[in-house]
Amino acid sequence: MRTATVHINLPALVDNYQVIKTMAPKAKVLAVLKANGYGHGLVTIAKALPQADAFGVARIEEALELRTAGVIKPIVLLEGVFNTGDLAILAANNLQTIVHTKEQLHAILTADLDRPLKVWLKIDTGMHRLGIEPEQFNAFYYALTESENVHSDLVLMSHFSCADDLQSSSTQAQFSLFNQLTEQLPNARSIANSAGICGWQNTQCDWIRPGLMLYGVSPLIDKSSASFGLKPVMTLQSSVIAIQRVKKGETVGYGNAWQASEDTNIGVIAIGYGDGYPRHAQNGTPVWLNDRRVPLAGRVSMDMITVDLGPKSTDKIGDIATLWGSELPVEEIAKHSTTIAYELLCNITRRVKYI
Ligand SMILES: *Cc1c(COP(=O)(O)O)cnc(C)c1O
Repeated sequence: MRTATVHINLPALVDNYQVIKTMAPKAKVLAVLKANGYGHGLVTIAKALPQADAFGVARIEEALELRTAGVIKPIVLLEGVFNTGDLAILAANNLQTIVHTKEQLHAILTADLDRPLKVWLKIDTGMHRLGIEPEQFNAFYYALTESENVHSDLVLMSHFSCADDLQSSSTQAQFSLFNQLTEQLPNARSIANSAGICGWQNTQCDWIRPGLMLYGVSPLIDKSSASFGLKPVMTLQSSVIAIQRVKKGETVGYGNAWQASEDTNIGVIAIGYGDGYPRHAQNGTPVWLNDRRVPLAGRVSMDMITVDLGPKSTDKIGDIATLWGSELPVEEIAKHSTTIAYELLCNITRRVKYI
């Protein structure tokens, strides 16, 4: 019998990349691979995307793991360097960095480097997380452009806070501010993540930065991945390890949190929050088993979940259940668990087998 297993569908990944290219034929693609390739496997995903123009990661360790695995493509550290000493590592490994603070600027201007670094200057256009203030832009721009430590093809970038919501006015406001600061300059520009690419086509600029949609998940609220032609790359499965008969009125699991409204069969599946299945998944969360959806019945345990198979079920021990993936969008499981697909994908734990 099989316990928790993740199947990674690399042809689907490549198809999703093609969908992105069709949506943004002129833009270069920085494929975002942070958090272990959104839980899909950092090196596996990088090696399956030779078409990408560059990769984006969040930590220098992720970039170095790619280099160690033989990936030679440009890699951008999306949060910049955290320690001044890392600049020499960047230069030695041909890594690019974002600059979003005056500390990072100062470190680059004063570093003793063998060769110039390629830099992406991040402007805060309204998200108020990372980025320099618009008023600081000119000073940063000229300092970087004049520095011998900085490669001449400085990229100007920002990030959207609400692009997943097509009703929000923030995206247009952020994009206008970004244009106001950067449109007249000769530099390459980048602002769109997956939601920007799918929902705000005019924001694609020179570089797009897709993460979520590469993995076949819809970046827009209330739009399915299939509506964009995207296919889920990750399918999470495990097996039925027990079937219990319960009577009307009996309860199931910790806290007796589910009660049978009729005599029924309960399937026990070998997956739990110890594998990355969300503990907050509510009663009724769908599980795909033998060509139908069965509802979660009772709390998620560390190693198991329980589902209501119905009174006349014919399911057997050893049957394979899909928790999310090709037959069941992870977006749906996220909705039932008061979280987002991003979190579910990157929370898969070490004991889960990858195929
Ligand atoms: C994570 C990230 C992305 C990708 O976002 P998605 O919503 O997954 O497409 C793009 N840009 C930056 C700066 C990021 O940190």
